[in-house]
Amino acid sequence: MNLIDDILNSVDIVDIISNYVDLKKSWRNFVGLCPFHSEKTPSFVVSPDKQIFKCFWCWKGWNVITFIKEIENVDFFDAIKILAEKAWIDIKKYKTNFWNHNSEINTKEELLKINKAALNFFHKNIFENEKALSYLVKERKLSKELIIKYKLWYAPAESNKLINYLLDKGFSQEVILKSGLWKQSSSWSIYSFFTNRIIFPIFNQLGEIVAFSWRIFDNQTTWWKYINTPETILYHKSNILYNYHNAKKTKKNYIIVCEGYMDVIWLDRLGFDNAVATCGTALTPQHIKLLKRITSNIVFAFDSDEAWKQASLRWLQIALENWVYPKVFNIPEWKDFDELANLKENDEKFKNDLEIQIKNSPDWVSFFIDNILENYKTSSPTQKESKLQQIFDILKKITNYSIFWDYLEYIGNKINIHPNILYQQFKKLKTYKKPENISETNNKNDYIIPSLFYNDFYEKFKIEKITDLLEIIFSILDFLPEQHLLKKVFTNQVSFEEKEKILQSQLQWEENLHWRTKEKINNKLLNEVKIYLIHILMELIKSPSIETDKKANLMIILNQLRKFTI
Ligand SMILES: [Zn+2]
Repeated sequence: MNLIDDILNSVDIVDIISNYVDLKKSWRNFVGLCPFHSEKTPSFVVSPDKQIFKCFWCWKGWNVITFIKEIENVDFFDAIKILAEKAWIDIKKYKTNFWNHNSEINTKEELLKINKAALNFFHKNIFENEKALSYLVKERKLSKELIIKYKLWYAPAESNKLINYLLDKGFSQEVILKSGLWKQSSSWSIYSFFTNRIIFPIFNQLGEIVAFSWRIFDNQTTWWKYINTPETILYHKSNILYNYHNAKKTKKNYIIVCEGYMDVIWLDRLGFDNAVATCGTALTPQHIKLLKRITSNIVFAFDSDEAWKQASLRWLQIALENWVYPKVFNIPEWKDFDELANLKENDEKFKNDLEIQIKNSPDWVSFFIDNILENYKTSSPTQKESKLQQIFDILKKITNYSIFWDYLEYIGNKINIHPNILYQQFKKLKTYKKPENISETNNKNDYIIPSLFYNDFYEKFKIEKITDLLEIIFSILDFLPEQHLLKKVFTNQVSFEEKEKILQSQLQWEENLHWRTKEKINNKLLNEVKIYLIHILMELIKSPSIETDKKANLMIILNQLRKFTI
């Protein structure tokens, strides 16, 4: 039997998706709010008859394996594993027919086993090294529970111990080298760089061990220095968050993102089981995607004032680009962990206060604005301009127009300038400082109509007949080439550079329309969209790459569109 078929036959797509989405029965299908884009009215349809799903807004869809891949952010192999587990199917029985055909899958499995064996080895060693254990317990004041939860084990000083242990377990030298636990020296001997260190294992979102981090423990000055396993086929830093597999089970309705692994563990000690950290890299859009699967309420916690002011501003931009509006929290005097550990009697009060403090942390954008605008009034004109430029550099990442405008008003109130004037300034500075590397594949005018549909911008104008035109767009979307902007807008494939241009076009609409009557807005918008769509349809019908019978369909749509009256 074929594993994929067996899985598809033994799970029901409605059951599986119900674990992630609230589904309601509607005629023969089920509908719900799409988990892949944010929406208020359901566009997400699941068909129990066909065992498929489809979102009619972002166009994600296909079978239950695709769904698990997307929602769990895993590859095909892991999606199969998750579903097999839910269906009580034993993957190992299928080994000969399925897994052996794919050597990468085999290597991945093998590496997971090596990491698991290495973790066992490190575990044994922590009890044989009193110094390491007492360092964690006495100096770092970590409880036994925390040491066990985070599996803070020990790698002994003798480099060949781990190697011999793994070779004894029957792993081949070739695969061991791929695990990143070892390195090959110029003399062709292999050595482990995990020696005499405290080990921090790193798990993926499924709770599988994919990498290790080590840190020196007998020299306080280098305590902050982590070294991670290099990237392997199991471990891509841009896709992994430390402690994500635990934090996703939290009952709290927000997630804390820290800079370091120890911050995560200290927060846990104070009752915050909802903290994660990046693995020594910058935050990526994939990280945000992972976090959004738990919640969009994200608090970034930083050790020092300077950290968030400098490098981490890029983090804020990444969050905004992905429609997350994070809060920011400054960890107070965390390095004084002795004092923290001695807070035992007052623990509850301390924890509660901290919880309130974290929950009430300021929204990062306003916090940033407040800081920049400090001393604005006494600044020189040049300084004032540069301050505004810094703020606009952040604001231009906000793709939601009304939130963008809220911030303009917020700034306006602070410095006593009408938001409209600020907006003029925003446009000027933006054109003055040209964004780099914008690909010119799309003409400037090409953005105007697609921008209406980006992020449901058109809803702002409450146009009644727009749904008719939307239907026409949906029916031609499949014919459009991938790089067509309209297609990108509807399939959520817009690049950052394109987003900027779209935002500009949306602002242009706003400007052109705000003084018109509702009726005039209606006519203007519908008319322009209609002309644009007629143009696209004509192009498609002329295109040599589209088959004749499909062109007949397009002709019918074109005639429909021509008859459309405003
Ligand atoms: Zn969707």
